[in-house]
Amino acid sequence: MLTKAPRGTNDILPRDVAKWHYIEEKIKKICTNYGYSEIRTPVFEHTELFERGVGDTTDVVQKEMYTFLDKGERSITLRPEGTAGAARAFLEHNLYAEALPSKLYYNISCYRYEKPQAGRLREFHQFGVECYGSKGPAVDAEIITLAGVVLKELGVPGLKLNINSIGCPQCRSKYNEALKEYFKDHLDTLCDTCKGRYEKNPLRILDCKSPICKEIGESAPMLLDYICPECSEHFEMVKKYLEASGMEYSIDPTIVRGLDYYTKTVLEFKTELPGTQGTVCGGGRYDGLIEELGGSSIPGIGFGMGMERIILAMEAAGVMPEFDNTPDLFVATIGEAADVYSMGLIKKLREENISVIRDYLDRSLKAQMKYSDKMNSKFSIVLGDTEIEEGKAKLKNMATGEAVEVELSGIAEIIKGR
Ligand code: ATP
Ligand code: MG
Repeated sequence: MLTKAPRGTNDILPRDVAKWHYIEEKIKKICTNYGYSEIRTPVFEHTELFERGVGDTTDVVQKEMYTFLDKGERSITLRPEGTAGAARAFLEHNLYAEALPSKLYYNISCYRYEKPQAGRLREFHQFGVECYGSKGPAVDAEIITLAGVVLKELGVPGLKLNINSIGCPQCRSKYNEALKEYFKDHLDTLCDTCKGRYEKNPLRILDCKSPICKEIGESAPMLLDYICPECSEHFEMVKKYLEASGMEYSIDPTIVRGLDYYTKTVLEFKTELPGTQGTVCGGGRYDGLIEELGGSSIPGIGFGMGMERIILAMEAAGVMPEFDNTPDLFVATIGEAADVYSMGLIKKLREENISVIRDYLDRSLKAQMKYSDKMNSKFSIVLGDTEIEEGKAKLKNMATGEAVEVELSGIAEIIKGR
C-alpha cells in the first residue's frame, strides 16, 4: 500500500520527464505563434461548476468525478477537464472586458474515476485551448488547425481529423424529438443511465460507451440532417477555412462529444492506437457555456488533448526523440583541499551553463570514476593539490579517451566549443 501509487495514476520518472518537456515546449511555441496565452487554474473547483459547465447528464459528471466534502463541508471536485475552470476564471477576472477574443491555453492534470487501461488513467494530463468572444467560423478553423499542427509537429502518426456540427439549441430541439421517437422502441434495451437520459437529454445516448446503446445508436437519425440554415452556413465556412489552411478532414456525423455545452462545430483527432483510446484530441464550440455559468452570452470554442495518449502514439510509432540528459563534466577530487576547492569551481562552471556533477559519497578516486561512467559524463577532470596550485588539469573526453591539459579558468569555453 505505502509503496504503491493509487490505481490509474502514473509517476513520471526522471528518465521520462524530458519527453514531457519536449512536448510542452512545442505546445508553448505553437500556442504563442497562434496568439494564445497560458492560464493556470486550481486543481479543484466547486462541484457545481462542473455540474453546470460539463453537464449533469454526461458520463464525466454522472460517473467519473472525484467529489468530496472538504473540512468546511463544501462540495469540492478535482477538475475532470479544463474548460469549466478556464471559463470560470474568464468570468471571475472580467477577461471579457479586455481585448476579445480571449485566447487561452493550459497544460493541466485532470481527474476521472475510470477503469484504468493503456491511455485511460484516473490522473491524466490535458493540453487544451480556449477561445472566448467570437462566434465566427474562422476561430473554429484556427483552433482545429492549431491542434493539428501540434500533433503533426510531434510526429503523431496516422492522424485523422473528423468534424461534425451538432447545431444550436433550436435545431437540437427538433432533433431531440426525432431521437426520442427513434429510441422509444428501444427504451427497454438501453442501459440504465441512458434510460434516464431519454427524457432529459437523448443526444447523450449517442455518446454512451455501452456496446448495446452504441449499436442501437448507429441507426439513429443524424443531427447533421436537422441543422438550421445558420448552423449549416457556419459549418460550410469552417470547412472552407480548413481547406484554405490546408487541413484535411472527414465529416463524421456520429460525433456527439461527451460534454453538454457543445454547439455547432465538434471535432476529434484520431490516431492508429487501438480502441477509443485512439482519440487523442476532442473539442468543439460551446456558445452556451459562459451564459450557463452566469455570464453574458459570450461564445466560446476549445479542445482538450490527452498528453499520455500522445506519448503512447509517439512511442508506438518510434517517433519520440532520444534525449540527452547526461552531465557535461564530472569533477573528481583527491584530498580535502581539492574537495573543498571543487565546490567553488563547480559553481562557476554551472553559472556558465555547463552541467557538472561530483561525488557526494566519499568515494575513492577509482569509485568516483566508475560513478562518472555510470552517469555518462561527457568530460571529466581530476583535481588534486598540484592541479589547484598550477591552476591546470587534464580534461578527459570520455567518449574518445583523449585528454588535454587545460587552464581551470578555461574549462567552460573548451567544453562549449566541443
Ligand atoms: P474518451 O471517449 O476516450 O473517454 P472523452 O470524450 O471522455 O474521451 P474528452 O473529455 O474530450 O475525452 O477529453 C479530451 C481528451 O483527453 C481525450 O481525447 C483524450 O485524449 C484525453 N482523455 C480523456 N479521458 C482520459 C483518461 N481517463 N485518461 C487519459 N486521457 C484521457
Ligand atoms: Mg471519457
